[in-house]
Amino acid sequence: MGLAQLAERLVVVQEVAGSTPVAHPTEIGSRAGFHKGRTGYPVRPFVFNRATALDEGNTEMTVLPVTIWGEPVLHRRASEVEVFDDELRTLIADMFETNDAANGVGLAAPQIGVGKRLFVYKYANDDDVPEQGVVVNPVLTLSKVSGALPDPDEHVEGCLSFPGEYYPLQRAEWTRVQGFDGDGNPLDFEATGWFARILQHEFDHLDGKLYVNRLVDRYSKKALKQAKRNGWGVPGLTWMPGVDPDPFGH
Ligand SMILES: [Zn+2]
Repeated sequence: MGLAQLAERLVVVQEVAGSTPVAHPTEIGSRAGFHKGRTGYPVRPFVFNRATALDEGNTEMTVLPVTIWGEPVLHRRASEVEVFDDELRTLIADMFETNDAANGVGLAAPQIGVGKRLFVYKYANDDDVPEQGVVVNPVLTLSKVSGALPDPDEHVEGCLSFPGEYYPLQRAEWTRVQGFDGDGNPLDFEATGWFARILQHEFDHLDGKLYVNRLVDRYSKKALKQAKRNGWGVPGLTWMPGVDPDPFGH
């Protein structure tokens, strides 16, 4: 896949902020024509969340703040959904709305502060799977992940909860996804390539893992340094899709 396609198809492209010279991601950003990054991404305190919205009797679809690296709900295992009711369906509607506002290809419930096992995705795929959907209580089966170093041109990944940054990571090329839709009907489908990557990324969120937790050493160090520079790694930080600047320049 070429860089231009990469830019269109993944939510991943923004110049890495900071002054570290000759980082691979920086090169990618520059070559692909993305403007220079900020030093850090503006964040706001986690003063508004879903529970607050519901307390206020808000049952309309709502764009919700996206949690940032350090918010505890992102870093612990989410719990199984046990009831398929209107509250769940409202949550799903809000997740679609928030994902759209964030120009995301996927969003997991912990990213809006809800520790439940579900994610939504929106990605035109080659696998005959609907372009957007929700998977509740997902189980993934993966093909073997290559042990080779990730290619910084081909395997670049980003996350709305680590906004504005992106790093290379190997993923399985194929996955089978089993789970349920928002009404409790069983789902079972296969995905390949970028779509498979997105699904693995979202699934990881439900186990309290961000892609940053999977990076090989050299990128992991960079990412953690960057998080520190951005003031992340503490509870209570979010950004607001549609209000704050798009972290990936879309
Ligand atoms: Zn993510």
